[in-house]
Amino acid sequence: MRIARFSIDGNVAFGVVEGEPSDQDGPVIDIIKGHPFAEFERSGQKVPLSKVRLLPPVLPNKVVGIGRNYAEHAAELGNEVPDVPVVFFKPSTSVVGPGDPVAYPSFSSEVHYEAELAVVIGRMCREVPRERVQDVILGYTCGNDITARDAQRREKQWARAKGFDNSCPLGPWVETDIDLARAGDLGIMCTVNGEQRQLGRTSEMVRPIEDLIVHITEAMTLLPGDVVLTGTPAGVGPLSVGDEVAVTIEGIGTLTNKVIKRG
Ligand code: ZN
Repeated sequence: MRIARFSIDGNVAFGVVEGEPSDQDGPVIDIIKGHPFAEFERSGQKVPLSKVRLLPPVLPNKVVGIGRNYAEHAAELGNEVPDVPVVFFKPSTSVVGPGDPVAYPSFSSEVHYEAELAVVIGRMCREVPRERVQDVILGYTCGNDITARDAQRREKQWARAKGFDNSCPLGPWVETDIDLARAGDLGIMCTVNGEQRQLGRTSEMVRPIEDLIVHITEAMTLLPGDVVLTGTPAGVGPLSVGDEVAVTIEGIGTLTNKVIKRG
C-alpha cells in the first residue's frame, strides 16, 4: 500500500494511492480517516493524484542519518568504512516533499545529492531487538540527503552541512508492502536532468537496516513518523541552480526536486 500525505483545497490529509500512471485517468487517492500510524479506514472518497499537491509523506520529529554505509561511496570521498556507524541528524525543518524546491544555502558552493532508502518508523520504540525491527517499521520512501560537501569538509560536526533548510526531500509516499528482506535488496538510482548519476542496490549496505535500527534505538527513542536515512551508494556529485534531481527506488517510486537560488 502506498500512503501519501497531500493537500487539497487547503486541507491536509493522508490517503492510499491506487492505480498506475498508465491508467486511463491516472492514479487516484482514497482519503483515509485518521492517520496511518494506527488502524485506519479508507473513506472511499477518491481524488485524482493529479489534482492534489503531495506533501512530505510524514512530518518526522527527527531524521536520523547514517554516513558511509556503502563501501564504494566511502572510498570515493577518501574515507574508510567506520568501525561504528556514523550517525547524524537532519532537523525537521530540513524536510520537504516531492516537487518542492531545494534552495542552495548561502554558505556553500558545492551542494551534493545523495539518493537514499528512507525507513519510516511506525511506532514509538527504544532498545529494539533485532528480531523486532520489522514491527517498528511502517514502510519505506525515497530520500535525498542533500549535503553541502564543502561545509562538511570544513566543519567538524555536520549539523549545517546536512541540516540546512530543504536539505531533506522525502517522498513521494510511504510504501508499506515491503518487508525487511526485500528492503535489503532494492535498486536505487539518482538522476540529474535525466542523466543517471548513481545506480546501486540496497544490498550493498555495509550494515543492514536491522543493525541500524538496533544501533540507533540503543541511544534514543524513535517516534512514529521518524525517518532513518540508510546511506548512499557511490556516484555522489554536485548540483547546480536549475538542476532537476530525481531519486528512484525500485518498488517505491520517484522523488523529484528542483534546485533553486536562495531568494
Ligand atoms: Zn547520506
